[in-house]
Amino acid sequence: MNKNPHIEAVTLRLNQFLEVKGYRRTQERYTILEEIYAKNDHHHFDASELRETLIQKGFHLSMATVYNTLELFVEAGLIKKHQFGGQAASHYERTVGSGQHDHILCLDCGFVKEFCDPRIHTIEKTVSDWFSTDIAYHSLVLYGHCTEELCKNRITKNVN
Ligand SMILES: [Zn+2]
Ligand SMILES: [Zn+2]
Repeated sequence: MNKNPHIEAVTLRLNQFLEVKGYRRTQERYTILEEIYAKNDHHHFDASELRETLIQKGFHLSMATVYNTLELFVEAGLIKKHQFGGQAASHYERTVGSGQHDHILCLDCGFVKEFCDPRIHTIEKTVSDWFSTDIAYHSLVLYGHCTEELCKNRITKNVN
């Protein structure tokens, strides 16, 4: 496993968070954090996917443990939670080292792509001034129908 350059920073952040909150430093919390930060920068995953990977590596954690740990990491600002579409399970991605970006989702095949538009940052600053509020984070997902051939549902439609 390649060591992620951010692993030390995020481990430190988790240490501090657990200490401030008075939570225990369980080994599984660190195992899960390392697994999340071992992935490439722009990886979106859900809880069961993450659990599968951990099981393959010999860490048999319950679904409840994985969910609880993910919620804890969201609270600690170590990961972000996304709700891509109504029925879909919550997806997560790392915050440190993944850069500022937003998402666009195909309603047919569910493919999620990332984009970065600096104008969104400008909007944040403007609205922040209007309401005298420090913006902590934002959530923006654009939904559409992709026009690419690789859209699974589009291919099905063409066959019919
Ligand atoms: Zn993303
Ligand atoms: Zn599509």
